[in-house]
Amino acid sequence: MSETTLFERIIAREIPADIVHEDDISIAFKDISPQAPHHILIIPKKAIPRIGQAHEDDAATLGHLLLTARKIARDLDLAEVDKGFRLVINNGKDAGESVPHLHVHLLAGRQLQWPPG
Ligand code: 5GP
Repeated sequence: MSETTLFERIIAREIPADIVHEDDISIAFKDISPQAPHHILIIPKKAIPRIGQAHEDDAATLGHLLLTARKIARDLDLAEVDKGFRLVINNGKDAGESVPHLHVHLLAGRQLQWPPG
């Protein structure tokens, strides 16, 4: 059996987090170590370890994460083209994944550089 991840413990309210959105499928909370003025993690309640382990039948959940990110961006007044936000998914060791529970980073509030490091 797989171990309970940090993010599952946040979903279960065993670890506190600054939650900005919750619904039946997803939860979103502020990153504990923000890399931009806005840095929010959007995660599925289903324990999908990473995008590389997602299944065809996760399609609705994956789409929901993006639409939740859109909602949060709109709520923060970031969705217009003259503002902006970036969505990032780190998959695996080389990409810097540190928590094995799928999460979409929403970063905004400063000029973001490209390419990322
Ligand atoms: P990754 O590096 O896996 O793409 O992203 C994991 C993110 O989780 C990091 O940005 C890290 O700062 C954040 N994080 C790690 N532990 C906690 C925590 O206990 N609470 C919150 N809110 N974020 C965390």
